[in-house]
Amino acid sequence: MEKILMGECLCGSIKFSVKDSFRAFYQCHCKQCQQLTGSAFASNILTDPDNIEWITGQRKTTNYVHPSRDFSKSFCTTCGSAVPFINKSKTSLIVPAGSLNTLPDIQPQANIFTSEKACWLKPGLRAPDFTGFPE
Ligand SMILES: [Zn+2]
Ligand SMILES: [Zn+2]
Repeated sequence: MEKILMGECLCGSIKFSVKDSFRAFYQCHCKQCQQLTGSAFASNILTDPDNIEWITGQRKTTNYVHPSRDFSKSFCTTCGSAVPFINKSKTSLIVPAGSLNTLPDIQPQANIFTSEKACWLKPGLRAPDFTGFPE
């Protein structure tokens, strides 16, 4: 039997489950993903459009669709966390990797739109690690 993965937004208003059956895992470095996440890249896992059970809070989701690019995002209206959504062409459910509480079997397969990579990503990866705030 397939493993079931649980996911939720930060404030807990939205909870869902998905079957651990994904076909792609991309880290997108485009400028739009940097703006939407406030970070260097978006980590998205693709699956079939019907692979989701909304447990609670589906009506707390809202959607932004970019006017010109084939680009959208769903998020919690309370905390702004990225939550799963079906793409414009309705071929895939896009699951933001950070919304999952359980580890999927699939690993990141590709970094995409790397020509737009944040100029601070590489220096950031070389910076020292701290388990909490630096002392
Ligand atoms: Zn939330
Ligand atoms: Zn992107």
